[in-house]
Amino acid sequence: MEIIDNHTHLNDEPFRGKEEYYLDRAKSLSVTKLICAGQDPDFNDRAIKLAQRFDDVYAMVGYCPDVAKDYNQVAEDKLIEQLQMPKVVALGEVGLDYYWDESPRDVQRDVFKRQIEIAHELKMPVDIHTRDAFEDTFKILKDSDLEYGAILHNFNGGVDWLNKFLDLNIYFSYSGVVSFTKATDVHESAKVVPMDRFMVETDAPYLTPKPYRGKQNEPGYVHYVAQAIADLKGISLGEVAKVTYANTVRVYGLE
Ligand SMILES: [Zn+2]
Repeated sequence: MEIIDNHTHLNDEPFRGKEEYYLDRAKSLSVTKLICAGQDPDFNDRAIKLAQRFDDVYAMVGYCPDVAKDYNQVAEDKLIEQLQMPKVVALGEVGLDYYWDESPRDVQRDVFKRQIEIAHELKMPVDIHTRDAFEDTFKILKDSDLEYGAILHNFNGGVDWLNKFLDLNIYFSYSGVVSFTKATDVHESAKVVPMDRFMVETDAPYLTPKPYRGKQNEPGYVHYVAQAIADLKGISLGEVAKVTYANTVRVYGLE
C-alpha cells in the first residue's frame, strides 16, 4: 500500500532539520510521496529545496491570500521561473481567505485569477485555499479555464458545495478535519465524493487527525485521514490508498 500526502508543509518550522526523520516516519505508515506546499517567497524557496533534496518530495509554489498584497511583476517573474523547475508540479497554494483578510478582498481575487491564468499557460493544476469564501471561489473558478485541473485543498464543504464544484474540473482534498466527530457536513461529502475525484492531505503541521488530535501533525498521519474516509465510505484503507494515489499522480503529473 502507498499513500500520497498531496498538501503538506514539510517546509514549515517544526520540521526544519528533521525532514529525514519525518519522511522515515511517513514511510513506516505507508506514506511514500508528498507534495510540499509553498505559500509565500520564503516557503516557496524552501519547498523547492526539499523537492531537490528528496526523491519522494515534490513542490508547489504560489502567492497565498495572506501575501496577495505583495504580488507584483517582480514576484510574478520569479514565480513563473520557479514553476518551470523540475519537480514543481502545481501552482499553489493560492485562493481566497475572508477569515483572516490579510490582503484586501479585491486584491485577493485579482491575484488569484492572475495565478489561475499563469497555471493554465504553463499547463499546470492549481491548488486552492479557500476559507469563508466558497461563494467567490466558485464564481472565479466557474469563469476560469481549468483544463489542467484544480484541487480544493482541505475541503471542508458539505454535499451542496461538493455538487456545485463537481461540475467543474475540480478535485477534493480531504484533511484531518474529516476525522473530527463534529464535522458532519464533511463526513457527508466524503461519503459521496466520486472515487476518481478525491485526494488526501495533512496540511501538517496543522489539522492533526484522530487519534492524534491535539498533537503536532506530520505527513505520515495522512494514513489516518485515508482511514477515516475508508470508514465513512465503507471500503478498505487499501482501496482509498489506491484511488487517491492514482488521482494524485494523474492530476499533478507525478513521475
Ligand atoms: Zn496548507
